[in-house]
Amino acid sequence: MSVLSIGNELLRGSTVNTNLSLIGKKLASFGFEPKIQTAVPDNADDISEALNFMMRNCGLIISTGGLGPTSDDITKKTFADFFGLTLERDIKTAERVRGFWKKRGKTRIPETVFNQADLIKGAEVIDNEVGTAPGFIIRNKKRKTILMVLPGPPAEMLPMLDEKISSLIKEMDFEKQRCVEILSSGISESLVEEMTVRAIGGEKILPAYCASAEGVRIYLKSKSLSKINAARSILEKKLGQNLISRGAKTVEEEIIDTLRKRKQTLSVAESCTGGMIGGKITDIPGASDVFNGGIIAYSNNIKTQMLGVRGETLKKHGAVSEKCAREMICGLKKVFSTSAAVSITGIAGPGGSSPSKPVGLVFIGTEYNGKIEIRKYIFSGNREMIRRRAVSSALNQLKKILTR
Ligand code: AMP
Ligand code: MG
Repeated sequence: MSVLSIGNELLRGSTVNTNLSLIGKKLASFGFEPKIQTAVPDNADDISEALNFMMRNCGLIISTGGLGPTSDDITKKTFADFFGLTLERDIKTAERVRGFWKKRGKTRIPETVFNQADLIKGAEVIDNEVGTAPGFIIRNKKRKTILMVLPGPPAEMLPMLDEKISSLIKEMDFEKQRCVEILSSGISESLVEEMTVRAIGGEKILPAYCASAEGVRIYLKSKSLSKINAARSILEKKLGQNLISRGAKTVEEEIIDTLRKRKQTLSVAESCTGGMIGGKITDIPGASDVFNGGIIAYSNNIKTQMLGVRGETLKKHGAVSEKCAREMICGLKKVFSTSAAVSITGIAGPGGSSPSKPVGLVFIGTEYNGKIEIRKYIFSGNREMIRRRAVSSALNQLKKILTR
């Protein structure tokens, strides 16, 4: 399997290749990983060369981009020429395109949009329910390959991929691989590897690891799901409290699910993360079931006025201190009366440090069932990394206190 990303904007850096990530995740859910990914500009020679190379190495190729109506989008014509196929205007598709424009109240429809009604003769058409550019499946019997041609906008690409991918995988008769994903936090990558290798024992399972600000992700890949499950259950027991989530579920999803099941609520008081924890939580649809809100207490004034942090605490211990984090969470509970609460205060840098308080020093408070836990962290990296690490540590700490 391979992914061919087409578009000058991807190479210029003005568009991030999120389609690659979406396709990768989708294939991973079936236990596969693309072998090759290439990004090429909207240029016929570059597209054809990349396709040729992929066809020599892979059975299934998924391309995205270059199906728009403007003259720079040449993917369809290039693929048609490559396979010796022709383009033909399809009346029904043209009417669909016209309807799409009319529905948006446009009276003058540029002629070029009807380019999208030109279909590749001999290819299977994939309907686009979100936009106007249809996708295609081109089967090449001689070289035993399938090319799936999808549009660039992720919101159009993904439903079309979703609709067809499982039947294409079946059609290609790929031997099914199984893969599970586990997220751990609080232990080093090397230690995670030791635990994983012991859990696998002598079984034929291929492990992989990926460290990030969120923790260490562990992947177990094998043809046998029962072997994976046996190893997983040993590993999860060993990880104990350091097991954060299973499968593709994120920590914030786990937190929301847990609180929702218990009909409980959450609030946050954020200083150095400036609302990023609230942001992560509210990224999840349905967060309103459990999330009441928060206070971004960035200045000392607001910490005092809104959260009741004592002036004496700030003077004696400073805003970045165990005591301040504790008073923030107590004040937060008074304002929101939620079942669970999080407070965070720290130095994200690059300025603001002192010999006793280095950049990266962060105090995170979590409260649940009347039990407060304040933990001290020293994160490394630049401002962005420190803040990302602080957010994921806060979420992990909260998740742990909820499941204790
Ligand atoms: P196109 O089909 O090439 O005209 O692309 C239409 C839109 O999709 C543009 O806004 C692109 O920036 C976006 N797009 C194209 N390829 C990708 C990709 N690989 N990842 C994310 N967005 C993309
Ligand atoms: Mg384009």
